[in-house]
Amino acid sequence: MSRVLIVGAGLTGSLCACLLRRELQSKVQIVVWDKARGSGGRMSTSRSPDPSSHSADLGAQYITATPAYAQSHHSFYSELLSAGVLQPLLGQVEGLKQKDDSKNYTTPLGMCSVVKHFLSESGADLFFECHVTGLYRRGASWEVQRKVGDSETFDAVVLTMPVPQILQLQGDVGHFLSLHQKQQLERVVYSSRFALALFFPPDAVLSFSWAARYITDNSCICYIAVDARKRNADAPGFGPSLVIHTSVPFGLEHLERDKEDVQPIILQELHKLLPGLPQPISIKCQKWRYSQVLTSVQDCPGHMTVLDRPLLVCGGDAFSHSNFDGCVESALSVLSALKASL
Ligand SMILES: Cc1cc2nc3c(=O)[nH]c(=O)nc-3n(C[C@H](O)[C@H](O)[C@H](O)COP(=O)(O)OP(=O)(O)OC[C@H]3O[C@@H](n4cnc5c(N)ncnc54)[C@H](O)[C@@H]3O)c2cc1C
Repeated sequence: MSRVLIVGAGLTGSLCACLLRRELQSKVQIVVWDKARGSGGRMSTSRSPDPSSHSADLGAQYITATPAYAQSHHSFYSELLSAGVLQPLLGQVEGLKQKDDSKNYTTPLGMCSVVKHFLSESGADLFFECHVTGLYRRGASWEVQRKVGDSETFDAVVLTMPVPQILQLQGDVGHFLSLHQKQQLERVVYSSRFALALFFPPDAVLSFSWAARYITDNSCICYIAVDARKRNADAPGFGPSLVIHTSVPFGLEHLERDKEDVQPIILQELHKLLPGLPQPISIKCQKWRYSQVLTSVQDCPGHMTVLDRPLLVCGGDAFSHSNFDGCVESALSVLSALKASL
């Protein structure tokens, strides 16, 4: 039985695990390692430290299916809709520039439920707080080192973390990348943003009716959402949560500062935009150094094979584009490489 390691429990990694299981059933042992404490990656949902507040999606907000992707990825959409993971987005989104006949979907249980769905379908052995630090070729296998714990050996490895984090790995990855591949990876560019979640007590009232709002005339904040309304999941007894995303120029300007120092600046701007906000119970600030891909890996759609035997492939939104369909495209492409090799 082949042993495959997927590094990253974000959307691409979870889809790779699920598709591989469906394709090869019990012929493969699938192991997923993620350095974080939970699944989701950039589709993460944060719980409030106080259980009486609603959780908050700090990264991806909703899923937009263009007519072309609604057709080509129909099976993924219908699976998630029939499982109740996705629902049509019903709340009012002010300033949303809707193109063509695209459809927007929301996740009643938060964006991480999409990732959790595919992980649970995969039956993979899932390990969190497993930070991969290096890969070493040992004959027909890869020895994978992590920050804490023994290294382990796998027949194939799939890397789905952001490209700069792939380039930071120690060991043989750099040796097996050709000069051309290295240049392709080095040219990838991501935007950076900060995200803030404000968790309110159950009696807090937010006096506006929108579920989310895009802001174009503020240099700091570009998007605000009332998470439960955005998810069609307003539940009595739970305090609302508010999610704030900063603009890309603001993210870039403050990228090297501690998030604790940036949080008060964002809060000050927020109170100008929404005066009279109630007092939150707690606040969480997230720095997305690698937010969305601005320049993807050129001439390398879906995945990059670093070595055929033992197989080492890189995937993720950098090999397509930063949204649900981009991750599906990459996962399908990684699957084709795995099928050919295993
Ligand atoms: C602020 C923001 C808003 C967005 N809005 C939307 C939206 O509305 N709609 C939409 O469709 N998309 C949106 N996106 C984009 C979408 O979230 C991403 O395209 C998608 O989540 C990428 O998934 P991925 O699996 O390729 O990468 P990731 O989600 O980044 O997963 C990679 C995983 O690898 C792990 N990892 C990294 N290094 C290591 C290591 N050394 N060892 C072990 N594990 C490691 C990370 O912890 C992470 O879990 C948004 C993203 C952000 C940040």
